[in-house]
Amino acid sequence: MESDLVKPRILVTRRWPEAVEQELAKVYDVTFNASDTPLDQQTLAAAMGEYDVLAPTVSDRIDADVIKAGDRVKLIANYGVGFDHIALDAAHERGIAVTNTPGVLTDSTADLTMALLLMAVRRGGEGERELRSGQWTGWRPTHMLGTSLHGKVLGLVGFGRIGQATACRARAFGMKIAYYGRHPVSHKTACDLDAHYYSDFHKLLRAAHVVSLHVPGGAETRHMIDAAAIQSMRKGAYLVNTARGEVVDHDALAEALRNGHLSGAGLDVYPEEPQIPEALLGLENVVLLPHLGSATHEAREAMGRKVIANIHAWTKGQHLPDQVA
Ligand code: NAP
Repeated sequence: MESDLVKPRILVTRRWPEAVEQELAKVYDVTFNASDTPLDQQTLAAAMGEYDVLAPTVSDRIDADVIKAGDRVKLIANYGVGFDHIALDAAHERGIAVTNTPGVLTDSTADLTMALLLMAVRRGGEGERELRSGQWTGWRPTHMLGTSLHGKVLGLVGFGRIGQATACRARAFGMKIAYYGRHPVSHKTACDLDAHYYSDFHKLLRAAHVVSLHVPGGAETRHMIDAAAIQSMRKGAYLVNTARGEVVDHDALAEALRNGHLSGAGLDVYPEEPQIPEALLGLENVVLLPHLGSATHEAREAMGRKVIANIHAWTKGQHLPDQVA
């Protein structure tokens, strides 16, 4: 059995579900963040010289300054599938491997996407606010009418794991599926669905009654949904974003929600979390959730197990199952 002296030192930056924290602690010398307060840049930078493995999340900014601040960390095992908060080039330059947790949060995030989509088209947030504020006067034929999904086109931007899982669910609601990506998906898709591929982003936007975003964050996708993209969307369309906040220009979105070009939106992610763009807060026709995509007991435990599997592989010098850099 390994002695404590040779156990790799690991920093887990935020609280994980207890079961997976315990699994990790059984094998390694782990520092947990008991208070769950986000670590500042200085603490993260110091950690680069004190630990062998850093296990951050989307709420940490692992930028080039942090990465270059110390030379002990050799693995950044991210808890989450998105890795746009980690400077991959700087990690690569320093010989630091980076892993993520793909697949195990796909279903939960697709479920949440459908929840947001339904809340947006059926005015769920608005209805709940009306009822809780004592303003509801009872059933009537013209009260708070929304839009039916049957026969409508769902336009997916990014047709990877979560995009496809969302499409499978939307099909059960009678929606037609279209998608935009850098190339058509040639392999058999999830739930064997046929989906119409658009190589032209703006044509997809024009075709869709609901646009749902499933691309990664980062420089390439920043403000993909800007004023011009919104203008290409049908009048009265809806936008759903469970990808990354920076994919959307929120000023342009707020303007389109205000002037009626878009009927509604459902958002789970924001560019400067936990701040919410001020322009959106006063609008009735946007549903705002606090980054809940993967927030199920099942997904969050499975994500912890994926991180652990990557750390195990790294300590044994094996191929890393989920290496992104
Ligand atoms: P994925 O399987 O890698 O899918 C991403 C898709 O986007 C791929 O089909 C990829 O196609 C496409 N893509 C990448 N860059 C593109 C670009 N510039 N233009 C058009 N398409 C592009 O990832 P996933 O597991 O579905 O996750 C997607 C994202 O969801 C994550 O990166 C994360 O940011 C976000 N997410 C959010 C939550 C939440 O809590 N709200 C939870 C999980 C994930 P290629 O083949 O061309 O690369």
